[in-house]
Amino acid sequence: ALRNVQHHIAQQSKYARLNAFISLTDAAKLQASAPAAEDASKPLHGRLIAVKDNIATADLPTTAASKILSNYTSPYPSTVATLLTFAGALVAGKTNLDEFGMGSHSRAPFAGPVLSPYTRNGETLSPGGSSGGSAVAVTTGQCWAALGTDTGGSVRLPAAYTGTVGFKPSYGRVSRWGVLDYANSLDTVGTLTSTVGDAKGLYEALDQYDVRDPTSLPGAVRERITKAVMARDEKRKDRPLRVGVPFEYNITSLSSVVKRAWTSLLQRLQAAGHEIVPVSLPSTRLALSAYYVLAPAEASSNLAKYDGVRYGARVSGPDALPKEDLVLFAKTRGEGFGPEVRRRILLGAYTLSSEAIDNYFIQAQKVRRLVQKDFDNVFGLAHPLLDEVQAAGEDTVDVLIAPTAPTLPPTIKEVEQLTPVESYMNDVFTVPASLAGLPAVSVPVKLADAAGKVQNADEVGGEVTTTGMQVIAQFGDDDLVLEVAELIE
Ligand code: GLN
Repeated sequence: ALRNVQHHIAQQSKYARLNAFISLTDAAKLQASAPAAEDASKPLHGRLIAVKDNIATADLPTTAASKILSNYTSPYPSTVATLLTFAGALVAGKTNLDEFGMGSHSRAPFAGPVLSPYTRNGETLSPGGSSGGSAVAVTTGQCWAALGTDTGGSVRLPAAYTGTVGFKPSYGRVSRWGVLDYANSLDTVGTLTSTVGDAKGLYEALDQYDVRDPTSLPGAVRERITKAVMARDEKRKDRPLRVGVPFEYNITSLSSVVKRAWTSLLQRLQAAGHEIVPVSLPSTRLALSAYYVLAPAEASSNLAKYDGVRYGARVSGPDALPKEDLVLFAKTRGEGFGPEVRRRILLGAYTLSSEAIDNYFIQAQKVRRLVQKDFDNVFGLAHPLLDEVQAAGEDTVDVLIAPTAPTLPPTIKEVEQLTPVESYMNDVFTVPASLAGLPAVSVPVKLADAAGKVQNADEVGGEVTTTGMQVIAQFGDDDLVLEVAELIE
């Protein structure tokens, strides 16, 4: 394990220009704290794991790539960070992200953009986001695995863009205690790894009830899920896996390369004896708009506490109503938040305002319920948290398989030209599972025309040779999602 740690540390200096980390654990300290041989029984013994910088760790600052938290170190570690330590892992450092997780290309103005090691015609590509630092750290071997957060696709999208495995568990499985809220009804902690097997190992250490997180699934609910899944698995033994292909994901902006990768994967599964079932999720086209109403609304409320008084950096100013100057908290927030965060706070404050709430926030909540119902209609496993038991029809499916993103990663130059709305469009395939709280994993699959050049594990770069395919299943069906991911890996 220690040898691996040394290898990762070497990769960290080699790929420092990619800006994957905001802070790194001191190399000497890492080597000194490498767990003793008697700990070798621990499941993540000596594993170097990077943690996205919106997840609190006790030793390093937690900045969320925001100026407003630039000097913030949490007085306590998040539950997930504590669980990693219990399992014998070492924290590699804190990875770069879009400010507070808001974005798809890991370009926080304060922390600077993350670069992908991959290029197209010599142009650097976007690493995806918002967990782009975690994805790049994994793909370049700067750590064994990384934690990210996924609110609307932030683990899956960067995984798809960097050839890594990005797993977002069901909402409530992994504790959010000590994870900075973006949109708390959607936020999940996920994993970025080189293989599905690694994702399983890491997830196993994190999949636990946490009394400190009110949305954590308690033991009784977990038992109920296990029972439902076991009953379904019993029946599944005697029949092929049923893979749903959502008709609505075949959108006009789906690039031909990604579409070909999708169809060839489905053919491969069919040839292996699995059943391919076309399904319809009619509310899909509304999901993206609903997400971009709900996520900013929750963000505007969650980020209200960064006022320079209770949390974060302070820009001084008068604390009473001013004559000509701005009050302290307005100055602090105006200077502390970057443009995208300010845009979302304004958007959220508007859609929650009394004149707009019915047309925006309430409508979006209704769409969210429709999206969830769409999924409930196609999965054979009934939603384990709902009492109404739907009849498992003949044409129900076990999982859905669809692309993670409609295109290959854009170049950084292309990203710089995108309007905010254009960049929101990137999330069209990832937000539906987020709105419904479902488990989803992005797995890299080979592109048909990718040159089969063998890559040296230490030298990462050149053209992308993979794209991400997403496996989505019913709430609580996390193990199945990983099982199918392993099948297509
Ligand atoms: N790109 C999406 C957003 O900006 C998703 C971000 C995330 O999952 N944290 O909201």
